[in-house]
Amino acid sequence: MNSMDIRRTFLDYFIQHQHVQLSSSQLVPANDPTLLFVNAGMVPFKETFLDISQRTTPRATTVQKCLRVSGKHNDFETVGSSPRHHTFFEMLGNFSFGDYFKREAIQLAWGLLVQVLQLPLERLWFTVYRDDDEAARLWEEVGAPRERILRFGEKDNFWTMGETGPCGPCSEIHYYQGSDLAQQQASGVNSDDDDYMEIWNLVFMHYNRDIQGHLTPLERPCIDTGMGFERLVAILQGVKNNYETDLFQPLIERLQQLLGQQSSHYRAHTSLYHTIVDHSRAITFLLADGIAPANEGRSYVVRRILRRAAYLGQRLGMERPFLAHMAQTVIEKMGPVYPELVLKQAYIQQLITDEEGRFRSTLVTGLQHLEAMVQQSGAQESGILPGSVAFTLHDTYGFPVDLTQKVLSERLVKVDLEGYEESRREQQERSRSGSCLKQSVESLSELVRELPPTEFVGYTRLECQGTIL
Ligand code: ATP
Ligand code: MG
Ligand code: MG
Ligand code: MG
Repeated sequence: MNSMDIRRTFLDYFIQHQHVQLSSSQLVPANDPTLLFVNAGMVPFKETFLDISQRTTPRATTVQKCLRVSGKHNDFETVGSSPRHHTFFEMLGNFSFGDYFKREAIQLAWGLLVQVLQLPLERLWFTVYRDDDEAARLWEEVGAPRERILRFGEKDNFWTMGETGPCGPCSEIHYYQGSDLAQQQASGVNSDDDDYMEIWNLVFMHYNRDIQGHLTPLERPCIDTGMGFERLVAILQGVKNNYETDLFQPLIERLQQLLGQQSSHYRAHTSLYHTIVDHSRAITFLLADGIAPANEGRSYVVRRILRRAAYLGQRLGMERPFLAHMAQTVIEKMGPVYPELVLKQAYIQQLITDEEGRFRSTLVTGLQHLEAMVQQSGAQESGILPGSVAFTLHDTYGFPVDLTQKVLSERLVKVDLEGYEESRREQQERSRSGSCLKQSVESLSELVRELPPTEFVGYTRLECQGTIL
C-alpha cells in the first residue's frame, strides 16, 4: 500500500463509523498562547473538549500537521538518530466530543489495525494507565491476549498536551519490529529498544489541568486518539525505519542527486541525510503556514531548523544552496494532499533562497572562527567552549546556539550556556543604553525643531556672562 492509500484508508474507516472528516488546522494554534506549535491532533479541538456545547459534530477524524520542536513534546535533538521521531509529522486521529468513550475507542482501534489492516497480533502490545482496570478488561474483550496488556505510570500513560489543558489517562498500542518473534519481551515496550515502536495513543480525556496542576473533570468525557502516520506507513510497507517509506525515499534520492552522490554515500551518512530530509519537510510546511524566518518566537524556530539543515548540507559536501530544491520535492510529493504548499510555492522558495543565501555567506567563516576559538580556548581539552564564543557566533555569524552545540557535540565539547546567556544579557544592556543615548539625541533634535527660528542679534547687541553691554 502506498502512503496515499494508507491515509485514505484511515479516514474512510472512520467516516464509515460516522465520523466527519475535517481538514488539518495550521501549524500555529489559533488563539492559544500556551503553545508554539500544534503538537497533536487534539490541539485544534482543545476548546471543544473544555466546552462541549461548542461542538459542531459529535465525532471527527483528521490527519493533522504536527511539529514537535518545543515545550513538553520536543523531539528536535532526537531527529536523525531516531528511526521514528520527526520534527514535522502527520498525526492520524479520531475524536469523540462527549459521544463514545473507552469501549468504542478500543473497539474502533482494534477493528482498524487487526481486522482492516491485518497487523499480526503476535507483534502487538497494549498498554494502559496503572489503575485503569476497565481499559485492560476492554482490550481483553476485543481479543488482546492478557499477557500483552501492560500497565505504565504517568510518564507514558497519562497524556497532557502541555502544562495546562485537557488531559487524561491513555492506552497505547505498540508494535514489535524485531526479526525474531520469540525474542519479544514485555520489558522492551516503552524502553530505548528500537525494535518496539509505539504507534497509537488513545487518550481518555477526563480532566482539564490548570497552571497549579489541579485536575477538574470535564463536563463530558471525550476521546482523542493520535497515531503517527509515518510509523503506520513504515509497518505497512514492511520497513523498520520511517525514512525507508515512500514518504521520505524521494527526498533522500533528491538529496543524493543534488550532492552528486551514490547510495553508498547515503549509507555512510544516514543520520545526516535523515535530518536534512526531515528538516526540509518542516521548513516547507512552516513557511506554507506563514511563519517566515526571523529572530523571535516561532519565526526563530524556522530559522534554527533551516540553518541546521544548511549546515548539515555543507557538512555533506554541498557546495551551493540546495534547500529550495528540497522544498520543491516536498511540494511535488505532498502538494496533492496539502494544496497550501502548491499555492505558496513561489513564496516558499524565495524565502528559503534568501535565508539560506544569507546564512551561507557567514557559515564558512563562522566555522573557521569556531575552530580557531576551540584551539585558543582549550575547549577540546576542557570539554567546554566559553559562552562568549558561542555568543559571538550567534551575534556575528548568525549561528543559533543549538547549532553551535550540534557542531561541537561530535567532538564531545559542550557550550557553557550560562556564559552564553550572560554575554547575551550584557549585549542587551549595551544596546539598551545605546538606545537611551539615541533617544536623548532624538528628543534634543525634536526640541530644536520645535523652537522658533533664532534671530541673530549680535550685530547690534553683545551678551557677556548674562549682562547686556
Ligand atoms: P514516543 O514515546 O515514541 O516519543 P509519544 O508518546 O511522545 O511517542 P504521543 O504524544 O503519545 O507520542 O503521540 C501520539 C503518536 O504520535 C505516537 O504514538 C506516535 O505514533 C506519534 N509520534 C509522536 N511523536 C512523534 C514524532 N516526533 N514523529 C513522528 N511521530 C510521532
Ligand atoms: Mg515522545
Ligand atoms: Mg511514548
Ligand atoms: Mg505516547
